[in-house]
Amino acid sequence: MTGTRRLKPNKGASAKSPEAVRRLAYFEERRAQIVTAIRELVEIESPSDNKAAVDRLGEVVGRRFEALGGKVQFHHATDFGNHLQVDFGGKSAGKPVLLLGHYDTVYPVGTLAAMPCRTRDDELTGPGVLDMKSGIALMLSAIAALQDWNGSNLPRPVSVLLVSDEEVGSDSSRQITEALAKKASAVLVLEPSFGREGAVKTARKGVGEYEIKVTGKASHAGLDFEKGSNAIVEVARQIEKISAFTDLKKGLTVNVGVVRGGSRTNVVPPEASAQVDVRIARMKDASLIDRKMRSLQPFNRKCSLEIVGGINRPPMERTVAVAVLYEKAVMIAHDLGWKLREAAVGGGSDGNFTAGLGIPTLDGLGGVGDGAHAAHEFIRISELPRRAALLAGLIEAV
Ligand SMILES: [Zn+2]
Repeated sequence: MTGTRRLKPNKGASAKSPEAVRRLAYFEERRAQIVTAIRELVEIESPSDNKAAVDRLGEVVGRRFEALGGKVQFHHATDFGNHLQVDFGGKSAGKPVLLLGHYDTVYPVGTLAAMPCRTRDDELTGPGVLDMKSGIALMLSAIAALQDWNGSNLPRPVSVLLVSDEEVGSDSSRQITEALAKKASAVLVLEPSFGREGAVKTARKGVGEYEIKVTGKASHAGLDFEKGSNAIVEVARQIEKISAFTDLKKGLTVNVGVVRGGSRTNVVPPEASAQVDVRIARMKDASLIDRKMRSLQPFNRKCSLEIVGGINRPPMERTVAVAVLYEKAVMIAHDLGWKLREAAVGGGSDGNFTAGLGIPTLDGLGGVGDGAHAAHEFIRISELPRRAALLAGLIEAV
């Protein structure tokens, strides 16, 4: 047995108001309980492509929310786990705040054996612990606390949506997410925070995927060279053209990530293709880049082009509504004794959909750690109390 190092001291010491001190102390006292809740979720593996596994976790999470008095319903999905919606009434009427997240992970069943959920000093490790099972535990903890502080009733209505397919593009859940967001006053996304300091995410790039398929004409490279139409040469020219669409100042990038074509050196290749990842920082660039991709014309008239794909997540822009929400979070964090920073990131989440509808959205409110989707994934345990206190404060404030 190795010696146990003391965890960071209670941060309540630097909190400003007596209420903030009290709240931080409340969550500090429950820190071990939050860790136990996270561990329970991490130890039920839930890869996006394994419906039975994800549904098993969904049932457990549903029961946890039900125990808090939430009205639980599952949206049935055929190819993925069912999506979980929970609704809580509140003391005041009005629109609910939507707590958004996902319970699928990128790790196949069996990963736990090599990547167990355990504590190592201030770190809690395991598949999905950061992305985003700690975020689910924070939702449970903040809701329970607000009930404790308000005579078992929440101060305002709260809806929770946990989807099962976020890591694979959210095709089966997008409509549900958008429908609930439209009814909400704001959306708080419990995806991992950014960096060591746990910054929240106020901007995310939009994401598109395209494939350019070229059809040329096969011929013998020696006997009939001039009768062939080289699809690889054509796709190469297209790649040069679309790569020039990148505009770093606008946050617009075009990455050709996969190229295929040809069979052997003495055959003029009749087919070739390129797969492309497009990222956009601004909504107005979505239709622009889409039009540019779709209007590509063959350089060689004897070749034909087919363009498939499109923009599948709009960007989450730092709109005024997002900035106002962030400022509220900064005030709450300040009262709790820390400076909450913000970050703009290239990766998308379901927050992109809700922000794209113009609903005030703040993302990255979940755990603080590193290694999402990687073997060293972990969260910092000492950060949990103030993240829970921040979430509770935001649920009241938005
Ligand atoms: Zn995630």
